[in-house]
Amino acid sequence: MVIQFPDVDLTGIKGVLLDLDNCLYAYDACHAAALEACIKLLEEKFSETSREELLAAYDKSRKTCHQELDGTASSHSRLLYFSGVVEDISSRTDAALTLELEELYWSTYMDTMELDSKALDFLKQCQAQSIPICLVTDLTLQTQLRKVVKLGISDYIQFITSSEEAGLEKPAAKIFELALSKLGLKTDEVIMIGDNPKKDIAGAQALNIKAYQVSS
Ligand SMILES: [Mg+2]
Repeated sequence: MVIQFPDVDLTGIKGVLLDLDNCLYAYDACHAAALEACIKLLEEKFSETSREELLAAYDKSRKTCHQELDGTASSHSRLLYFSGVVEDISSRTDAALTLELEELYWSTYMDTMELDSKALDFLKQCQAQSIPICLVTDLTLQTQLRKVVKLGISDYIQFITSSEEAGLEKPAAKIFELALSKLGLKTDEVIMIGDNPKKDIAGAQALNIKAYQVSS
């Protein structure tokens, strides 16, 4: 059952494990704007390559990363995606362009992010009740830290646990266990909140952590 943040029951809860992407803000608009900015840059650099070919190269590179690096933070690395695109189109590694694309992607993404107002109310409610929050999030720590800073939610978050440091993504038990150990809490003392039924909800429930699926 998908619920809204105000419907989360905090009675008797000592800590909250909280998803970030597509939970505290909507992902799709951010990704669409970021990818569009990068495709425009690629169109300028490779004028002989069509937009369709560039989009296909991105899709191919992303799929390859997902397959080869399944379950790890790097499977979502835009640096790897764009490195693959540039190598595919130009038959060489272009260090400066690859770095420029990654930075353009994330800076555009961050500029588009907007904190969900109900999520902010929830963060304030937890803070008012002295309930610590640990973000449990799939991706490299640097990118997730940037998102937290951009959303302006640092003061509401006690800890961040990324799949990069856990070595495995949700729904693997390890990332949840790492978050619990940071908070110093047991599975029956926390709840997990996220948008993804498999990663967030089933992953937490496998450890007997009560989980709420929310829509951003
Ligand atoms: Mg999510």
